[in-house]
Amino acid sequence: MSYAIQVNNLTKQYVSGRGSQEEKLALNDLNLNIEVGSIFGLLGPNGAGKSTLINILSGTVVKSSGKVRVMGVDIDEQPKKARSLIGIVPQEIVTDTFFPLWNALEFTAGYFGIKPENRITDQLLKTLSLYDKRNTLPQRLSGGMKRRFLIAKAMVHSPKILVLDEPTAGVDIELRTQLWEYVKKINQEQGVTVIITTHYLAEAQELCDNIAFINDGKIIKQDSKKKLLAELG
Ligand code: ADP
Ligand code: MG
Repeated sequence: MSYAIQVNNLTKQYVSGRGSQEEKLALNDLNLNIEVGSIFGLLGPNGAGKSTLINILSGTVVKSSGKVRVMGVDIDEQPKKARSLIGIVPQEIVTDTFFPLWNALEFTAGYFGIKPENRITDQLLKTLSLYDKRNTLPQRLSGGMKRRFLIAKAMVHSPKILVLDEPTAGVDIELRTQLWEYVKKINQEQGVTVIITTHYLAEAQELCDNIAFINDGKIIKQDSKKKLLAELG
């Protein structure tokens, strides 16, 4: 069996800033394997450690200890390679770019070293229904469009893994349906492993083939949706 994500004994201790010496153990000896090709749901309440885990995978939060492999690549040994294998759509919508959509995506592609002839900017904009906004500044987009733009940005380098951190928070039903269709499409047609964090069981149920429950920085249960549903009745 091959794994998209392998996490062993992962710990994250935040040392709070602002003069406070209070520490927060956000991830507590966490273990998790995610199979290649799955649509995986990481389900847990607010504060469980979902975003911390996701951000460690993508290299934006530094772990305290433990081992993490992305498509078999150790994030400590080959951080840049590991980052190139994963695309992440963060929970907080931040669009801090001063370029229109098309240029911003081209810029990101350049950052990943993708040659102009290999770029998929137009294709992404079309797939995510943003092509007619290609010359617009991200700040001018509606909330739903901003999120789609961030998905395009995460997919610019055709990562093997797409991670969506709480993608449907504050999103209307129409956009949700669109998002799920996109997720299923890239999963089926391109074999992209998709990881979604959520605090809604229904959402994980609807979309994911495998689900892990996270609480207090630990995985408390993980199984296929089928088995979990059978168990829960
Ligand atoms: P989730 O995404 O599941 O809601 P988070 O990973 O955001 O959970 O947070 C896990 C725990 O770590 C929470 O108690 C949160 O308050 C704490 N935490 C998150 N980010 C920081 C930070 N930068 N500094 C200190 N504590 C943090
Ligand atoms: Mg979160």
